[in-house]
Amino acid sequence: MRIAVLGLGRMGWHIAAHLAGHDEAHDLLVFDVIEGHAPRWVAEHGGGAADSVAAAVAEAEFVITSLPADRELQVVADELLPAISAGTIWIDHSTTSARIAREVGDRMSAAEAHFLDAPVSGGVDGARNGSLTVMAGGDDEAFARAVPVMEVYAARVRLMGGAGAGQLTKMTNQICVVGLCQALAEGLDFASRAGLDVEHVVEAMLQGSSTSWQMANRADKMSAGDYDFGFSTTLMRKDIGLVLEEASAMSISLPVTALVGQFLADVDAMGGAGWDWCSLMERQRRFASGEADER
Ligand code: NAD
Repeated sequence: MRIAVLGLGRMGWHIAAHLAGHDEAHDLLVFDVIEGHAPRWVAEHGGGAADSVAAAVAEAEFVITSLPADRELQVVADELLPAISAGTIWIDHSTTSARIAREVGDRMSAAEAHFLDAPVSGGVDGARNGSLTVMAGGDDEAFARAVPVMEVYAARVRLMGGAGAGQLTKMTNQICVVGLCQALAEGLDFASRAGLDVEHVVEAMLQGSSTSWQMANRADKMSAGDYDFGFSTTLMRKDIGLVLEEASAMSISLPVTALVGQFLADVDAMGGAGWDWCSLMERQRRFASGEADER
């Protein structure tokens, strides 16, 4: 079975590697717009490097993409659509707007092919360990065919509804997590300034009502000021932008999400664009101590 993987970034690199290492060795063709990137991946994992989107997807049964945002998805769609065969299933793991997911889905349907908007949660570690959660939108039949492929690198794969439902679910995930991380930053900073043993406090709270994935997996790094890993401030700001655009179109107010978006702009201004977004902690530390001016 021919599978094309387009976009070998922090996520796509590992997703493709799981497919290469799978028992049913797939006929893999990979492509990335950065010159030399696909040949580097092939040198490590096997398969073949294509020199264009069109060359990668011709004759592919599945196309898998993990691209930065809407603009790149649009570029890839324009290059891919004239080259694909009828029946091809395109699984897009990028986080994008629901609007572009529906547009690309419609164009794929017109070409007698299928599109699943399938953003993921679990981060780079989840991609590396094959434990991603996939939230998909699209038609049932294409989804059913795509499940065994996605299960090679994901622990949970769910169909959330029609086109765009995967992106809307991912947006819901981000709305639910952003305020939580800011609250964790405030709590850790408060405990530290109160002279408590923060590690001990976290241990106690992990058993209580404020427990969360963020607390279990990020509190130690936040306390240590270690942000050089993970899901960047830039990517989280992109996701919040998508959420606020969608919410505005629905006339919904999301005050906490919007505020944390502003806080992440502060982190960016501190030089933290590439830090994991739990660096909200750094902003809290600096602003609460008066090191930087409160807005
Ligand atoms: P990344 O920037 O590391 O990777 C994107 C890759 O796409 C790059 O290698 C880039 O060169 C390639 N690309 C861009 N335009 C292309 C084109 N026209 N053709 C082929 N390749 C092209 O980003 P990432 O961190 O891997 O994230 C990918 C997507 O997954 C994003 O939408 C992000 O929001 C989402 N996501 C990321 C994480 C994470 O922790 N990094 C977690 C969940 C979701």
